[in-house]
Amino acid sequence: MEKHWDVIVIGGGPAGYTAAIRAKQHGLNVLLGEKEELGGTCLNRGCIPSKALIHCAKVWQTVKNAQRFGVFVSEHQFNWEEMQKWTQQVVQTLRRGLQLLLRHHGVTVIKGEAKLVEPDKVKFETEKGESTVSAKALILAMGSSSVKIPCEPEAPVITEEQALFLPSLPDSVVVVGGGASGVELAWLFNALGVKVTLVEMLPQILPTVDVEIAEGLKRSLERQGIDVRTETKAEKISAQKGKGIVQTKKGQIEADLVICALGRKPNSEGLSEIGIQISPNGSVIVNEWQQTSLPSVFAIGDLVHGSGTAHGGMFEGERAVKAIVEKLSSKTLQRGDTKPVVPICVYSEPQVLSVGITEQEAEKIGLEIEVVRFPWRALGAAIAVGEVDGFVKVIAEAKTKRVIGIHILGHDVSNLNGEVSLTVMMEMTPQEAVKAIRQHPSLNEGIKEALWAMAGLPLHIAKRPERGRW
Ligand SMILES: Cc1cc2nc3c(=O)[nH]c(=O)nc-3n(C[C@H](O)[C@H](O)[C@H](O)COP(=O)(O)OP(=O)(O)OC[C@H]3O[C@@H](n4cnc5c(N)ncnc54)[C@H](O)[C@@H]3O)c2cc1C
Repeated sequence: MEKHWDVIVIGGGPAGYTAAIRAKQHGLNVLLGEKEELGGTCLNRGCIPSKALIHCAKVWQTVKNAQRFGVFVSEHQFNWEEMQKWTQQVVQTLRRGLQLLLRHHGVTVIKGEAKLVEPDKVKFETEKGESTVSAKALILAMGSSSVKIPCEPEAPVITEEQALFLPSLPDSVVVVGGGASGVELAWLFNALGVKVTLVEMLPQILPTVDVEIAEGLKRSLERQGIDVRTETKAEKISAQKGKGIVQTKKGQIEADLVICALGRKPNSEGLSEIGIQISPNGSVIVNEWQQTSLPSVFAIGDLVHGSGTAHGGMFEGERAVKAIVEKLSSKTLQRGDTKPVVPICVYSEPQVLSVGITEQEAEKIGLEIEVVRFPWRALGAAIAVGEVDGFVKVIAEAKTKRVIGIHILGHDVSNLNGEVSLTVMMEMTPQEAVKAIRQHPSLNEGIKEALWAMAGLPLHIAKRPERGRW
């Protein structure tokens, strides 16, 4: 193996492999180091397995409720083991695909644990022994790890990642943490007949999402049978007769299994020893180019954010490479791109899609805004499939009328992100954004209806619906 590289990327998750491919496309000589499986948390124990299982649960629900649509299935049952098998097939397919992809792009991959020994030197521990290599620039993409709250050793407590690989389903679970992963797991297990309590210490689930959307989702989850407890801090988990007991100030909650979905800890151990600045919560501090306090070392993805997103990490991988290319061609780094608009999606039923500024964030910074809402119960495409829970909420700056946030609760709304992100990123006015003709019937029309309402021309609603009408 070569001893000197243009770029070494540590971590083969979505952030790291995107950076490696982009660096190669820029003609750089790239080494990608990964200690476990390529694809990182996302592919192996996060986004992909959770979405495959959620899909299985949605199929089960569709079959169970088929009578509503005039379809009679005489015998129906599900098998958790078979759902797990499906999920593993999906993961294996994508893993093989990623290996091939990196090979086709010409990225050299080394399997081994990397340790930064100097700002430009990395020691890899592989099956064949140790080797030290150097590079003009390093990209750190080591991701993050699950955390647990204090628990007695014999308490049945697992992490959000382990919850995806349970050998069998318990009768009851407590999910601690009402972020995206916690909500998705709560929905998944409830859909499969497990008694679920979802515990969140803050006043709302999905704390970074618009309050109205989070409240709407909470009501929907409760209607589906999930016991959602906000403003309830889990302090400790003890064990009693094989069960887990979650201790909170408001009393204790008992279940067969406790799942910790508490946010994640960046894998930044040891980095401060070579001079990389780390924030008190363990995340690596970077500038708008993803550059750390060491000018030739860049950091991306969950290592910077803790609980980040795969797509956010991929964007940062591209941004770091852009900066390295400029740096290596001796250009000074221009000011970085403006802050990206990173969509938040939650794949429960209903789903959440949240892009741009929320009503609460606007209030906090004293920005005057206009808000409109459009309910799915007024849209043909939603009524046709019997999924009318939720609404579209559009936020525009009052002075300029430019759209700066779109937040949606509803069935299958994660697939609407393309147009939503473009509208918010381009800060279009409603008049500009309605110009594209959306096909009928489709959920995209719901966004257009909300934009029309904002422009003062509501079509399929008589007037702008007010907050809390659905
Ligand atoms: C249950 C769950 C569901 C999720 N669902 C979604 C979702 O639907 N959508 C979404 O956008 N995000 C989701 N996420 C979050 C997403 O998985 C992460 O944001 C994403 O994986 C971060 O990418 P990354 O490349 O920064 O880190 P990772 O994917 O964690 O990859 C880091 C890689 O670095 C390797 N590594 C670490 N240290 C070293 C070392 N010293 N040497 C060599 N290799 C090393 C690790 O083995 C790992 O493979 C989910 C997470 C979980 C847990």
